[in-house]
Amino acid sequence: MHKTAFIWTDEYYNYSFPDYHPFKSLRESMTKRLLEERSAFHFITLIEPKPISEEVLQLVHSKEYIEFVKYKSKEGQGYLDDGDTPAFKGIYEAALIRISGSVKALELIKGGEFNHAINIGGGFHHAKRNRAAGFCVFNDVALIAKLGENSFSKIAIVDIDGHHADGTQELLIDDDKVLKISLHMFHPNFFPGSGDVNEIGVGKGEGYTINIPLPPGTGDDGYLLAFDEIVIPVIERYKPELIILITGGDSYFNDPLVELKLSTHGYLDVVTKVHHLAHKYSSGRLIMLGGGGYNYDATARIWTISIAEIAGIYDLEYETLHDPFSTKSSQFVMEKIRSTIDRIKKIHSFN
Ligand SMILES: [Zn+2]
Ligand SMILES: [Zn+2]
Repeated sequence: MHKTAFIWTDEYYNYSFPDYHPFKSLRESMTKRLLEERSAFHFITLIEPKPISEEVLQLVHSKEYIEFVKYKSKEGQGYLDDGDTPAFKGIYEAALIRISGSVKALELIKGGEFNHAINIGGGFHHAKRNRAAGFCVFNDVALIAKLGENSFSKIAIVDIDGHHADGTQELLIDDDKVLKISLHMFHPNFFPGSGDVNEIGVGKGEGYTINIPLPPGTGDDGYLLAFDEIVIPVIERYKPELIILITGGDSYFNDPLVELKLSTHGYLDVVTKVHHLAHKYSSGRLIMLGGGGYNYDATARIWTISIAEIAGIYDLEYETLHDPFSTKSSQFVMEKIRSTIDRIKKIHSFN
């Protein structure tokens, strides 16, 4: 049973940075169109989010920061951080509704009517308690994990965006009810600079952060190897009651900001595995969020294929969205990945 909700409102279009900026809501609109063209919404239920209260937002953000975003939202100029996340008029409301979509996804899963809920408008994993970062204003990933703790004692976050989930990690660093797994490109000077294997959480959260840093050039084969060797056994051991998947499309082989090399086939393999894990260990409870993705066409195809898989409607009509090939890592890159896998196994002591 793949009872699937798709959280959507046209207000999502408002969260799109102007001019030269790479983050555009075109990805979301293209995905919706690809799904509509395939009659997906005969099988997937569209649900509209309502803005959450500021009190809920304060679970992961300080009152001062929320006030700052409101102020910049009225002013409509400058940046919310050091220069990555521009302010525009209405950015507070635009960010809030997208974060609210992820909270809606959680509520639907809690309610039990749906076992899968998708918010491609979400996945802002760089936002911190007191500041915006990397195009992210509010961190919906950490927020719904925190909110989810009221209903579930074990939650797993699997983040396959091409960048390290630094905001989520920081906000949940000492949390032992949420297992945080991030696969990302890692290289000197590459944003955000964190996410090495030795960042494992602190206090009672120690061991609940698992970073899988991958070298530039990682193709489908190397990515899947790391996934099979680390993520699968870790989830099998942990048996989460809910899995939250952050499906940033920027691990794609010709994303302009990230040099990982996944094809649509690699993405589908990973999403299929996560979907199966959710059914095997989490009573099917799976929330899929969006994330980065700066090759808009590819990101829309990745999300559409992933959604079809999760909703159990994947067929030939989705096959046409695939790249004509899978990608391979060089021997040099594979050796780096294998040595990273060994280091992670040692640090987190499993085999
Ligand atoms: Zn399913
Ligand atoms: Zn990213």
